[in-house]
Parts: sequence; structure tokens; C-alpha cells
Amino acid sequence: MKLFEFQAKEIFRRHGIAVPNGTLITRRDEAASLGPPLVLKAQALTGGRGKAGGVVIWDGSEDVVTLVERLLALEIRGEKVRAVLAEEKANILHEYYISITVRGTTATPVLVASEEGGVEIESVAKETPEKIVTIEIDPLTGPKQYQVRALAKGMGVSDTRDLQKVVDGLWSVFTACDATLVEVNPLVATPEGFVALDGKMVLDDKAAFRRGELLSELKAEQTKRLDVSLEEVRSDTITYVPLDGTVGLISDGAGTGMLTIDLIRDEGGVAADFCEMGGFTSPQVIYDAMSMVLADEKVRSLLVVLIGGFNRMDEMAEGIIRYYEEHKPDIPIFVRMCGTMEEVGIEMMRQAGFSTYDDLLTAVRAAVTGAAGGSDD
Ligand code: GDP
Ligand code: MN
Repeated sequence: MKLFEFQAKEIFRRHGIAVPNGTLITRRDEAASLGPPLVLKAQALTGGRGKAGGVVIWDGSEDVVTLVERLLALEIRGEKVRAVLAEEKANILHEYYISITVRGTTATPVLVASEEGGVEIESVAKETPEKIVTIEIDPLTGPKQYQVRALAKGMGVSDTRDLQKVVDGLWSVFTACDATLVEVNPLVATPEGFVALDGKMVLDDKAAFRRGELLSELKAEQTKRLDVSLEEVRSDTITYVPLDGTVGLISDGAGTGMLTIDLIRDEGGVAADFCEMGGFTSPQVIYDAMSMVLADEKVRSLLVVLIGGFNRMDEMAEGIIRYYEEHKPDIPIFVRMCGTMEEVGIEMMRQAGFSTYDDLLTAVRAAVTGAAGGSDD
């Protein structure tokens, strides 16, 4: 899940990283009370705002409401601007780059920093790779002091202690949120020390089992406060591929999903989609998967194939029931449910008025018949 700059900065603040004081504006009339000088920053789930005119220094000469209105109407790299962050203007001495991410090949965290911030790090890496410092972090101990000293040297920073504070803060954010990316571009040196002038964070949806509360708070902030649709914040553990048929399909494994597509075909039906939730799910993930699959008007029946490993059937039942209660879709649902916590899940489904199957083929047949408008009993 991607976070907005203002969300990342709020998290930075809680972990001891200095950020400018700011106010979030979601409607133009809220801008009327602002006083100059401020930096107005368009909030969209993408970078490159500077180039697209999404960062404006307001000195008071222009009407702020008009300015905010213009920023709110912007679209940056295809992403709508959802709000404007009005911040105190920072007094910049130098712009640096710093981030922690996961190196794919080793699945270990790496710290990447550069004396050249405020520009795209990809172009720095291409044109002046010697200006990029990379440090491998031991996930058990975090960044060590000698590594921060090396980092400071590589970045040309003399105040190692202040940099240490930033690195400690970033590591704390990275681990506490199970992030896959925490990026500050630029991290600026000011007369008062380092300040994170921008913030980008991506959280690992697969960590929902232990960061559920954090993820749902951030998600609610995006959907309720900023009008971001569920599709846009949907957990990236869900793979959804629309197909041509009428049997809506949700599975908790890619192999099972593909097998079920074939079985549906064998029974004379056609799947309306391939929708796979990944192994670590939650009530919200299956709820989101149902929103996606049932948004397709071709769908005439819904087949959910669950084989609980890490995935808990009580949680799946909770999500399915909540979806049906909130949306009351006029579409029959056929659930094959087995594995972890199946007794509880099946009982929850029964009490809510849904029967479940333990045999895959029977469930497939019922769903194909259901899609054709028939009944299996
Ligand atoms: P991005 O283009 O989406 O990455 O937006 P940033 O928030 O990183 O801002 C882009 C650039 O605007 C920064 O690199 C700075 O040069 C400039 N900028 C942003 N905030 C301030 C500020 O408070 N004071 C000054 N002087 N410049 C700023
Ligand atoms: Mn930036």
C-alpha cells in the first residue's frame, strides 16, 4: 500500500524525524485561513510533483484559494490530486537523498543515500553513480554506528550525530510499519538540522496479519478523508484478471485458481475472472476481492475456493458475511472452505445462512449451475 506524503510525514514525526509543520487542505474554502509564506504541495499517490507544478511556494502575492483550487484540479502522472499540504517554508542549505528499501535478490534491507537530493534518484544513479552510497543493513541489529559514519562520509555530511538520528528514525519507521520502501527526497540540511521535506512510503500488505490496525487506519484515511476509491488502495496482494465468463471466482492460491478455471470449463461454465488473494489474507482482503469481482456485471454466481494454510477460515467467513450484509448482492455464492479454523468458519457461515462445501468439484458444479440460473438442490 502506497501512502500519501502527509501520511508518511505523520509517521516520520512519531518516530523522531523532523518534518515541517503543516496543515492538510482537502477543500478550497479551507485555504482561506492560511497565511504566507507557505509551501503548497499537491497530494497524489505519485512523485514528480515538482516538475508537474504540484509544489508551489506561496509568498502571499497570489490569492491562496485560487492557488489551492488550481493544485486540487491537477493530475500528476495520471494520479488525481486529493489534497494540498500547506507547510511552513524550510530554509534549505542542501538537499540530500536517503531511503531504506528491500533488495529483491537477497530480501534484505538496504540504505541508499546521496549528496544529490531533490532530483530523481534514478537519474543520479545513471549519470553519477559515484554519488550514491549503498549500505546493507543487518535486519536483526539495524544500521550500525560505523555504517552511519561511512554514510556521512559518502554524503559529505559533517554532523554524523544528526544523521544518526535520521537513520535511526528511518529504521524505526521501516521496521515498525513493515515498509518495503521509506524514502526521503529531499532530506534537507537546515540551520536547525535535518528535515524530511518529502516522504514516500510503501507498506507491505502481506504484513497485514500483524499491522492490521495501522493498515486499516491509513486506508480509511485515504478512502474516507480523501475520497480515494477502494480499487486504488486495494491491497496489492490481490491479483485480478478479468475474463469473459459468468462465474465469478476468488481463490486463495494461484494454482488452485488456475485449476478451478479449468474445472469450471469442464463443467460447462466459463470463469468471469481470475482473482487470487495470496496466502496471508484478512477479512478486509476477501471483502476487497469480492468488491472487485462483483463489480463485473457479467457475474451471475460467485465461487470462492479457500484452502486455509496461513489463511484463517474464521477470518474469511467474517469478510464474506460482512460483504453480503453491507451490499446484499443478488448473486448466489458457493464457498469451498477447508483448512485452518474451518470448524469456526463453517459455523459462522451457517449461522449467517450460507452453506459451504468441502468438496471442490461439487462446489464448482453448483456455481456453474447457479450462473446458468439454476439451482443445485
Ligand atoms: P516532488 O517533486 O514530488 O518530489 O516534491 P518535493 O516535495 O520533493 O519538492 C520538490 C522540490 O521543491 C524540492 O526538492 C525543493 O527544491 C522544493 N521545495 C519543497 N519544499 C520546499 C521548502 O519548504 N522550501 C524551499 N525553499 N523549497 C522547497
Ligand atoms: Mn520529492
